Amino acid sequence: MEIIESPEQMQDRSEALRLARHTISLVPTMGYLHEGHLELMRVGKKHSDKLIISIFVNPSQFSPNEDLDQYPRDTAGDLEKAREVGVDVVFLPSAQEMYPEGFQTNVQVKGITEQLCGISRPGHFEGVTTVVAKLFNITKPHMAVFGQKDFQQLTVISQMVMDLNMDIQIVGVPTVRDPDGLATSSRNKFLNEEERISALSLKKSLDLAVEMFRGSERDAGVIQKAIESLILSHPHTEIDYVTLCNPVTLKDIETITDEALLALAVRVGATRLIDNCVLRCDSDKIISKS
Ligand code: AMP
Repeated sequence: MEIIESPEQMQDRSEALRLARHTISLVPTMGYLHEGHLELMRVGKKHSDKLIISIFVNPSQFSPNEDLDQYPRDTAGDLEKAREVGVDVVFLPSAQEMYPEGFQTNVQVKGITEQLCGISRPGHFEGVTTVVAKLFNITKPHMAVFGQKDFQQLTVISQMVMDLNMDIQIVGVPTVRDPDGLATSSRNKFLNEEERISALSLKKSLDLAVEMFRGSERDAGVIQKAIESLILSHPHTEIDYVTLCNPVTLKDIETITDEALLALAVRVGATRLIDNCVLRCDSDKIISKS
């Protein structure tokens, strides 16, 4: 497994791989790797012959009051895990190399970034699209793999790729969960024992929504209220949003006619967690997935 720190060297390596007719997949991460990340890597590996991952805690997607300095890091552990999965190249740049003095370009997707996390995290998605566009130009992948856990991020990146004619296939991978249902996340490390139990209210909410939906409830407001009271019945929880929206436009919906994205952002103690599922009526069948 190669480890490359410089963007120029990474570009040269990717160019050589392309000239040798290899297909490349990229899995961008912020490190502190867990099963969710590893699943993305397995998917990338299965669909291409060279797998590149990036590990970069991107400062521009954190606002000044967020947890950039506390964000967990474990480069040695990450490299070990990446090796086990069979990653070919780890791109591990510094912030200085990604944003050298004089840097002055941003990539901004409008519309869909103004909903959900875009409301409570202004500037976040601009940071994400800018760094992902840079990572695409540096690693030159044919395919890039993202998690459906960050549903809005996946939607925003797909929109950027489409709008800017980037010749990259974007693949979304279903959310990986711990056995108790909690979506794996680097931030779960911050939860103490009590908070971890409260954090299960997110998955319980998705399950409740599926149950209500199966019972023919179509009023988004009714589902939303039931979820809010379920979450708030757990200690240390504070709701950022519980939203039922169109999975394509991310605009709020009042009545579910065809399908709906249920997206949650909840603070448990000091840790902000997100989760989601899609509720879908498929003719006479009801499908729901998370
Ligand atoms: P992060 O390191 O948190 O920026 O995440 C890197 C990638 O891993 C993103 O595409 C995330 O959506 C994805 N990811 C994070 N957690 C999970 C999970 N539990 N299941 C699937 N993908 C995930």
